[in-house]
Amino acid sequence: MKCAACHNEMVKKKGELDLRIEGKLYLVRNVFYEECPACGEKVLSPKVSQDLFRKIKDRKFVEKTVKIPVLDGTYG
Ligand SMILES: [Zn+2]
Repeated sequence: MKCAACHNEMVKKKGELDLRIEGKLYLVRNVFYEECPACGEKVLSPKVSQDLFRKIKDRKFVEKTVKIPVLDGTYG
């Protein structure tokens, strides 16, 4: 699969991914995705994203508090 942004060949990976759905941020663990080594674009297969959307709809997730480094990007 080629990256939609820069057309590099994407690499299959398994790991953690953050998803923002309807303004809410979700952290997905142990998920297969493809990542572009050039620009960092991450893509889920339609099957995986359908599965994740279904889990979110059915609230099949655990709510955990995670510490996320937050940066303030207001520099000239
Ligand atoms: Zn790319």
